[in-house]
Amino acid sequence: MDLGIEGRTAVVCASSRGLGKGCAEALAKAGCRLVINARNEASLEEAASDLRRLGADVTTVAADISSREGQERVLAAAKAVDILINNNGGPPRRGFRELTRDDMLKGVTQNMVTPIELIQAVADGMVERGFGRIVNITSLSVLMPIPGLDLSSGARAGLTAFLAGVCREFASHNVTVNNILPGKMDTDRLRAGLSWQAKKAGISEDEAAKREAAAIPAGRFGTPEEFGQLAAFLCSANAGYITGQNFRVDGGLLPTAF
Ligand code: NAD
Repeated sequence: MDLGIEGRTAVVCASSRGLGKGCAEALAKAGCRLVINARNEASLEEAASDLRRLGADVTTVAADISSREGQERVLAAAKAVDILINNNGGPPRRGFRELTRDDMLKGVTQNMVTPIELIQAVADGMVERGFGRIVNITSLSVLMPIPGLDLSSGARAGLTAFLAGVCREFASHNVTVNNILPGKMDTDRLRAGLSWQAKKAGISEDEAAKREAAAIPAGRFGTPEEFGQLAAFLCSANAGYITGQNFRVDGGLLPTAF
């Protein structure tokens, strides 16, 4: 499918692996010019090589996207941003009693304040140019508690509520803001969570993975590639009438009708 975004500049935050990389790959295939980011330079360059093999023009910015300095460097590399994929690391799995004040401030900065700051920086330019697509990677934990991820749930629910009004300010300018809620996607982060659960339950990581996958109606974890396909569609030229929405990619895990 031609997504109509060839030559558009896409900033994909936190994209050396996992869901961010899945989005970058799908946007590379759609012909976007990419600015990718992660803290570790070596793994970022490895991801850039993979994306260049798909024919993409890729600029890398090794930086902590939660820092103002990192955000500025990423945005400067992009110049005019047409597409913004807001992604970041998530808080570590931890019981709510163990969270320190610093942990909580860090989690809220990562998963709520940072994406808002980036949207503040790019939205007016998108409005002026009459095109903008913003996709926030949030979490199914916004809708459904997940053990050890209360901080993630709270910060991302805050982001979702914050943007529900904001996105409507830009809707008439062909600038959209949507959220994708991953359920259980097979990435390093999911595997780290499985190891945490396995330890707590006194079972092997393989057994924890089997039990988790069996609880998903699809019978398996999702892939970053599947995730990236939806992100790229939401960034496409024809998706201008879709804004302020939350899309679950969860293999049917959350059993609700609406
Ligand atoms: P991952 O650990 O596989 O990848 C995270 C990426 O973010 C890596 O490229 C890493 O280098 C980069 N990164 C981390 N902190 C950064 C920072 N401060 N600045 C720049 N880059 C940074 O994780 P993932 O599974 O791809 O998850 C992506 C996001 O989606 C996370 O916020 C995660 O909590 C959330 N999420 C994932 C799942 C899932 O099933 N995988 C489910 C719900 C929510």
